[in-house]
Amino acid sequence: MTAGKPTRLNGDLPQFSTLAAFDHQPRTRLVFGVDSLQRLGELAGQLPAQTVFLVTDPGIVAAGHAERAVKILEAGGLQVAVFDRAEENPTVDCVEQCVAVARSTKVDAFVALGGGSAMDTAKGCNFILTNGGRIQDYWGTGKASKPMLPLIAIPTTAGTGSECQSAALIMDDRTHQKMACLDAKAAPRIAILDPRLTLSQPRMVTACTGIDAIAHVVETAVTKRRNALSLTYSHEGFKLTLPNLPRIFENPSDLEARGRMQLGAALAGMAIENSMLGAAHAAANPLTAHYGIVHGPAVGMMLPHVVRFNAQEPEALKAYAELASAPEIACVSDGLEEALNALIRHLELLLDLAGIPPSLGHCGVEEKKIPELADEASRQWTANFNPRKVGREDFIALYQAALRPRATAV
Ligand SMILES: [Zn+2]
Repeated sequence: MTAGKPTRLNGDLPQFSTLAAFDHQPRTRLVFGVDSLQRLGELAGQLPAQTVFLVTDPGIVAAGHAERAVKILEAGGLQVAVFDRAEENPTVDCVEQCVAVARSTKVDAFVALGGGSAMDTAKGCNFILTNGGRIQDYWGTGKASKPMLPLIAIPTTAGTGSECQSAALIMDDRTHQKMACLDAKAAPRIAILDPRLTLSQPRMVTACTGIDAIAHVVETAVTKRRNALSLTYSHEGFKLTLPNLPRIFENPSDLEARGRMQLGAALAGMAIENSMLGAAHAAANPLTAHYGIVHGPAVGMMLPHVVRFNAQEPEALKAYAELASAPEIACVSDGLEEALNALIRHLELLLDLAGIPPSLGHCGVEEKKIPELADEASRQWTANFNPRKVGREDFIALYQAALRPRATAV
């Protein structure tokens, strides 16, 4: 997260400059490598920890990963308590159930094993366990006053990048509002990136999380908060993810492609930590809340339209062209518009390859609902960081464009 000069989070953020100030403190130790899960006991012992609280979900238990993690921790001399009911888009209720289990054992560290949901649940539980109150109390930035327990994050998907972030995203069960609880203390102390763990993902999970990771790269590369450091993460993340997601679809057991994808998703997470996200994420959240559309496809379906919209802004157009040049799908010197078109076409083809529905209409989104969705999208926090000012009317136009099937899918 950038700090330094006070930054206004709402309203007119300062325009991007290549010398935009940043204050970056890496908070998460990255341990990357095939079979690096084997180091879990040793790393938890170094925290130091004696009783570890493992937060995971039923799919990860079924894949056998949870049992392996417990065995490795126990072999390292640690006690282990387990919560294995993390759910997709974790709710306040899910976090409270997790807290109840954590309180029944005296735990001194967290291990989150799974996708973004397990990591968000562990972070949410950590807020309440260490600082009391309800998760709603931590909605916003820097609301925890007391220290939090150390967390080791072990992603089993290549998507959210939550393993490198200080935010917990928790859904309010009643309002469907996704609350972003950000605090430097919530960032994982260690992230273990073991590509072998991502082999067990069903194809659809690989697709949905992979598209999300790529959307993180594309959005972070252009936000108002981007800076020289975040661009390094975005561009490297794009080089790692864009060519490797298709490789994985072709051969799901390609461990090298899986490793590159996982590393790219983590770098995208680091980019978000510095530069936030944009209008595609703002537009996606109401789609998930009202129609239950999974996050990755929701962001993916909006992304090409948001890119086209943002590119009207000359600085954003240049930033997209530079991004497209990173994995060499275009060359800036051939012209900015050409690079932009190559980027959009690549994104659309990738959405087709990933099996993402061709339009919002295919997901049951009704035209009459668009004003309400646009209203909510314009109030999403991430809309503030979009490189081009985006309001309710713009979101109406973006949703309408996304109701029509994308060009490559017809
Ligand atoms: Zn996302």
